[in-house]
Order: sequence, then C-alpha cells, then structure tokens
Amino acid sequence: MEKFDFAVIGGGSAGYAAAAEAARSGLKTVCVEGGKEVGGLCILRGCMPSKTLIESANRFLTLRRAKEFGLSAGGIGFDARAMIERKRRLIDEFAKYRVKQLNGGRFEFLRGRAEFADAHRITVKLSAGGEKQFEAATVLISTGSVINLIDLPGLVETEYLDSDAVLQCERVPRSVAVLGGGAIALEFAHFYSALGVGVTVVQRSGQVLKDADPDVVEALTSALRNRGVQIICDTKLIRAERSANGKRVLYEKNGAEHYVEADEILYALGRKPAVRGLGLENAGVETEKSGAIAVNDRMQTSQAHIFAAGDVTGLFEIVHIAIQQGELAARNVLRLLKAEPLIPIDYRLKMFVMFPEPQLALLGLTEREAANRGLEVRAARYPFNDHGKSMIRGETEGFVKLIVEAKNGEIVGAAVVGPEASELIHEITVAMNFRSTAATLASIPHYHPTLSEIWTYPAAELAQSLGH
Ligand SMILES: Cc1cc2nc3c(=O)[nH]c(=O)nc-3n(C[C@H](O)[C@H](O)[C@H](O)COP(=O)(O)OP(=O)(O)OC[C@H]3O[C@@H](n4cnc5c(N)ncnc54)[C@H](O)[C@@H]3O)c2cc1C
Repeated sequence: MEKFDFAVIGGGSAGYAAAAEAARSGLKTVCVEGGKEVGGLCILRGCMPSKTLIESANRFLTLRRAKEFGLSAGGIGFDARAMIERKRRLIDEFAKYRVKQLNGGRFEFLRGRAEFADAHRITVKLSAGGEKQFEAATVLISTGSVINLIDLPGLVETEYLDSDAVLQCERVPRSVAVLGGGAIALEFAHFYSALGVGVTVVQRSGQVLKDADPDVVEALTSALRNRGVQIICDTKLIRAERSANGKRVLYEKNGAEHYVEADEILYALGRKPAVRGLGLENAGVETEKSGAIAVNDRMQTSQAHIFAAGDVTGLFEIVHIAIQQGELAARNVLRLLKAEPLIPIDYRLKMFVMFPEPQLALLGLTEREAANRGLEVRAARYPFNDHGKSMIRGETEGFVKLIVEAKNGEIVGAAVVGPEASELIHEITVAMNFRSTAATLASIPHYHPTLSEIWTYPAAELAQSLGH
C-alpha cells in the first residue's frame, strides 16, 4: 500500500493551501478532491461568483443615481443572463487556474471521495471509477461546508432559491423574501435591492449579524432600509406556502402570526460542516454537537496526527482564515513528524468583511468581545457624512470606529460601515499587526482628499482623550 507523510482530504482553499505548504517543506503529500468540479466553495459557489454579480448590481446602482451627479443615463436596464454569463466566464478562468495549481506535480492530486478506513488508512472512491487505498502518517480534513437546510414545513414544496441557485439564476424576481440575517443573506439582499427588486429580510435573532456590535449593525440596517430593504428581526419561522401572488413565508413575532409575500424565497439560513461519508468514527475523530470537527489551537482534532482546517471546523466561514488554518496545520504536521513543539494559531487580526452597499468590515475585537474578555477599552467613531471625500462620492452613510486598549492606546479592533470598507479596514490590519497605538496612527501622513484619512479623526480623538 502506498504511504504518504501527509494526506489532505478536500482540495478547496484550506486544503490546497495546506498541500502546497507541505509539499514545499518536502513532505510526500496527496490531496483528494471529491467535488463534481474542482475549485472549492470560494471560487465555484462562494466569494468570487457572488462578488462578480454584486459588482454588476453596484454598477447598476451607480447608473440609477446618475442624475444626482449631473449625468444623464437614459434607458438603463440590466440583462440577468449577460450578468450570469460574465460571472461564468470569470469563474471558469479562476477554476482553471486552481486546477492547474492542484495538478502542478508538487503533490499527488486524486479525484474522488475519501473515507477513513481507520486512523491512518484512507479509501478513495475514484471519480474515474474504482477505489484506491493508501496510508498516511498525518491527515488534514478540509472538506468545507454544505447548505444547512432546516426543516421548515412547506419550504421544499413551495420551492426556493439558495445561494448556489442565485448564482446560476438567469431570472430576476420582482420581490424576494430573504430568510436569514448573516453575511450571505445580506449580500444577496443588497444584490437584489440594487437591481430594484423589493426585498424583505426575515431574521430569527434580535439583530442581523448577531455577533457584531449593535452600533455597526444599526448603521448597516438603516442604510439598507433607506434603500427600501425591509428587515424584520425577532421572528420564528412557521412555514412556507404558495399564494395567489407568488410565495408566502409565515412567521411568528411578538406572539402573533404574520407573513411576507414575495415572488421568490431566498433561503440563507446558514451552512454546516461537510462531514458526511468521511468515516470519522473509523478514525476516532470527534465532532461537536453541530457536526463541526473539534480542533485545538494547533488545528489538531481529537487524534493528534489528524488535523482539520476551514469551514469543516465550524469556527469561521471566511476564506483567508481557512487558508491561514490550512497553512498552519501543514507547518504543524512537519513539526509533529520532527517531534518539535507545535505552533498555536493567532486570530488577533481576524477580519470579517461583507459586500453590500455600504460595505461592512470588522477587525480584531468588537467592543462586546473586549468586554467579555474583561479588557478595558475605549472606542471612537467618525461618520462618513462629515468627511469630505465620502461627500464628494455621495456615499455618506456609516462610520469608522477604532477600539483601543485604555491602558496604552494600542489598537485592538476596528469597524467600518461605509464606502470601500473592505479596502479601508486593511490600513488598520497593518497598524494592528505592528501593534500601533491610536497616537501613532494619527501621526502617520494621509493624503487629502481620500477616504483613508478618515481614520486620523478617531485616532486623534482617542490619543487626546487617553493623553498619549
Ligand atoms: C455565497 C457565499 C459567499 C461567500 N463570500 C465570501 C467572501 O466574500 N469572503 C470570504 O472570506 N468568504 C466567503 N464565503 C465563505 C468561503 O467561501 C468559505 O469560508 C471557504 O471557501 C471555505 O474553504 P474550505 O477550504 O474550508 O472549504 P471548500 O472550499 O468548500 O473546500 C472543501 C472541498 O472538499 C471537498 N470534499 C468534501 N468532502 C470530501 C470528501 N469526502 N472527499 C474528498 N473531497 C471532499 C469539496 O468538494 C470541496 O472542494 C462565501 C461563501 C458563500 C457560500
């Protein structure tokens, strides 16, 4: 039986990063990918296709606002089929590149579904037919996640779109009821509303993005509401059904039954770790109640030589963190094989970005997380509606927020709701990487007029109030 130093199950973002890192270190590595297509979620049905469609919608939104900028843009419209076709072209290109990387010869790449026979032997049902079994000294499970379909009566019969379907859908409905209030739900709510579709978001918790600070959520939801998106929180879904005008979602709120009627239902109630068929029990790998593979901060599972990374760990559903975890797992595999101490993962710079308009970005600690850790912090905000460059751009909703440790002014977190939030946050990521204080950030030159210079205002305010 063939023997490998390291076997990677799942060739998505985490798996590819881990296999490439291990192969660079000279480990004899195999990567098994069981999807119908190769590329992983981010490329095929996640980050890239969704942002491609959102880009089309954003440009349409700009055209709709032409008059405000003294421009005329008559007869504007969109062609959903052409938007999907553009997305298809780009995704094909990204996927082809990933296929080339996986087949690059640095490690063995197998197409097929992998299953543990025991803690060191893996059986692969090859896509081309037949089976292959091999032995691995160490393993990484990076099988990602799948859509978590809850048991909502009538939903399947009524029919619905999920994120996979929206990314293929060449028809734009007149109105959409979005179930869920996470990143995927809100990005698609934005996508449809930018195209002029009536959107209602129905969320179970008291706020959308339940882990974010309330001021940040409020800035985003009030901007979306200003654009006509209805957001209903604190609900309990009852059932879905067809109605004379389309589809209906019934829910309970404040003890009474209500419903939303729409042309289409978009199901965006989350994803769950993809562990089915992996034979984890044969390998003695333990999972959490949610099905997520339990890992320690070295990315090891309950079996010290089996690691896990990415969505399958249920920790974050963020691609650069999946890559960070995959690379760290590969480095730790090498250390384990050399009997050296393993390195822990560091989430100090954890970042979360969403791409509606306005965009939202969170970095490091939220105020709530800081409080939970007993860390004494100060926060300062500055609104985009008082900032020259955002006024020029006509994008004045939202604010930036800096969070610093009270004792020394070190930046420990930041948030942006506003124009180019996804880009603006990176300045603070660099500052935090070098453990900058608010005073240092305030003293760094910023060109005028730019969006970036907005950071100097909360930084200066904090530096002054803390006396640094
Ligand atoms: C609509 C949408 C938008 C998103 N947008 C963003 C965004 O803008 N930014 C961001 O950071 N994140 C975004 N995400 C999340 C991001 O895509 C994921 O966090 C990331 O792709 C997870 O990578 P992964 O390697 O863990 O899993 P995947 O990339 O899903 O890789 C897992 C691979 O394992 C394979 N596999 C599964 N089981 C087996 C098996 N038994 N044998 C062999 N192979 C197997 C699968 O075929 C798959 O290719 C988005 C997700 C969605 C759905």
